[in-house]
This record gives sequence, C-alpha cells and structure tokens, in this order.
Amino acid sequence: MTHNFNAGPAILPASVIAQVREELPNYQGTGISILESSHRSSQYEIINQRAIERLKRILGLGAEHTVCFVQGGASQQFAMLPMNMLQTGRSGGYVLTGVWAEKAFEEAQRIGNAHIVASSKAGGYRHIPLRSDFAIDREAAYLHITSNNTIYGTQWHDLPVNNTVPLVIDASSDIASRTLDVRNVAMIYAGAQKNLGPSGVTVVVMRNDFLAQMHDQAPLILRYKTHIQSNSLYNTPPVFSVYMLDLVLEWIESIGIEALSAQNHHKATLIYDCIDQSGGFYRGHAAANARSMMNVVFRLPDEQLEKAFLAAASAQQMIGLAGHRSAGGIRASLYNALPVASAQALAAFMREFVRTHG
Ligand SMILES: *Cc1c(COP(=O)(O)O)cnc(C)c1O
Repeated sequence: MTHNFNAGPAILPASVIAQVREELPNYQGTGISILESSHRSSQYEIINQRAIERLKRILGLGAEHTVCFVQGGASQQFAMLPMNMLQTGRSGGYVLTGVWAEKAFEEAQRIGNAHIVASSKAGGYRHIPLRSDFAIDREAAYLHITSNNTIYGTQWHDLPVNNTVPLVIDASSDIASRTLDVRNVAMIYAGAQKNLGPSGVTVVVMRNDFLAQMHDQAPLILRYKTHIQSNSLYNTPPVFSVYMLDLVLEWIESIGIEALSAQNHHKATLIYDCIDQSGGFYRGHAAANARSMMNVVFRLPDEQLEKAFLAAASAQQMIGLAGHRSAGGIRASLYNALPVASAQALAAFMREFVRTHG
C-alpha cells in the first residue's frame, strides 16, 4: 500500500477511485463516458446541482449562501475577489500568514487598494496573528484570511468573524476537514485538489448580501454574478472534476464532518506526538497553538538527515513528504482522504528513524 502524503493534488478516497474506474466507460447506462458527456446533458445537470447542495449541507449553510464552481484554481480567486469588490475605491484587508496569503495580497494591490491587517512574516510564519493586533480599516470591503497555511503548516483554530467587515477565507487546504461555524462568513473559496477532489475546479461559497455588493466592472467571465446566475454553467465547466467533486462530497457526507474532524485530529496528533517526544530531533515549524491538522511541517537536525529521511520513507512507500520548495524540510499532508493507517505508518517510521539516526 502506498501512503500518499502529497500536498496537492493529493490523495482521494479509495472508494471514489474505484467507483470512477467502474463507471468510466459507461456512465449510468448512457452508453458513453462522463468524459464524453455534454455539460448541458441532464446527467451533468444532476451532478452539478447535487454537488452544490452537498457542499452547502456539509458546511452547514442555508438559503443565505450560494455556491458556484469556477476554474483557474484558488490563484484565480486572488484576482477575482478584488476585481469584483475593490474597483469602487474601497480597500481589502489581508492577514499575511504565508506564501498564499502574500500572493492574494499582491494580486489585490495590482487591482485596487489593499492593506495588511496583520502579519506573522517576521516570525517566519510560525504563528497566527492575534486579533488584538489587527489594524483593520473599518470601511474595508472585506477581511481576507488563509484558514490553513499549506506551506508553513499553521491553521486558524477559530475565525475572526466580526459584524463590521465581511470575512473572506481561502480554505483551499482545510475546507470540509473540521467542524467550524461558517454561517457568518461572507465568502469561502477552495481549489478542490487538496480536500475535495481533483484539480480543475474551484468551489466558491458566497453570502448573498456580499454578492449584492459586487460591482459590474469586471469582465463577464471573471464576475461571480455571471457564474452564479448561470448556476455554474455559463461556459463549459470542468465536467470530470465536478463529477469527482460530487463523489468526494458524497464520501464526506457518508462519514460525517464530526467523525472526519475527530479522525483528522487523531492523525495529526500521532505525528505531532512523534515530534514532541523526539528529544529535539524533529523540530516542528508551527508554534504549538497554531499547528495545522492538515499539513505537519518539520525539520531534522540537518539537510543530509532530511534527505536520508525522505529516501528511507519512500523505500517504505511513503511518498510526497518533501517540504514545499520555499520552506524546505519535511511536510506530511494529512487531508481527509488519508487513512489513519498511513498516519500510523509514518509515526512508526519517524520513531524508528530517531532511534537509528538520533
Ligand atoms: C494550494 C493552495 C493555493 C493555490 O491553489 P491553485 O489551485 O494551485 O491556484 C492557494 N491557497 C492555498 C491555501 C493553497 O493551499
């Protein structure tokens, strides 16, 4: 069995892969593959609608929120959000907690006014800024945060929701991984390829009153209104990605978000315990109170040992453990679909590696 710790595109539920293989040549008796089907077909409309409804149920959202599926990845959202919200002279507030947050801020600055509300850059992105340190413009169009910092392995454990400035969350790497009340959130977006499916589709969840504030200056294809008004069928959607998204959402619903959340916590604890009990051999990147349940990032005493660690891990079918090129070290991504058995295998391997190399 291969233990897949890839950061994204990442592991998918084995049952979903099996179902895709099973129905690939002939989707539900249509005689053709879903890959060959029109996005205007009744079977795709059912998939599209079902995925939208499943996502809302999983996130605990009702009629005040709308879902749409777009392309261009989470990175396109870095531009789309300011294009739809900032051309009226208002400013977007950004909390910098890592590389992705920086990229979102950089894109916003190109399009309109944006300001830094708080940053943990000076400390090497080891922590999540304190609410009491926020410098937010009260007239800001929105407050943008990155709920899980995929590269540095930090995570917001609760949300800075306040009633004055709408909260926008890049939840690419922890959407649907934990119980979190998002009913007051103005917008959530996530590239599917970490917790929700394959790459190619980005989910966007929007509170209707936030959508109503958006102006009509952006090109049609980059307006949220365009995609929402056409129920994500404005132009050809990534049919296969949405089809797989729907299957992954079905799998998430069958387990339940409480059970998944507990399981994710358990998997992460197995790895953090190895770090904490290694006598300083493994050094976790994140401050203890900012640790991510999705991406565990740590270093070994030197790069030689890190190379040896990665080579020995891959000899035991544990793959995808190299840290991001901007951070180095080791990163174990423990998304929803990663079985507990894989986290257990990694923990056992880490303990054995300290015993033989510590
Ligand atoms: C992976 C990731 C992105 C980039 O996603 P793309 O779909 O490749 O554009 C953005 N934000 C976060 C938090 C991520 O983990």
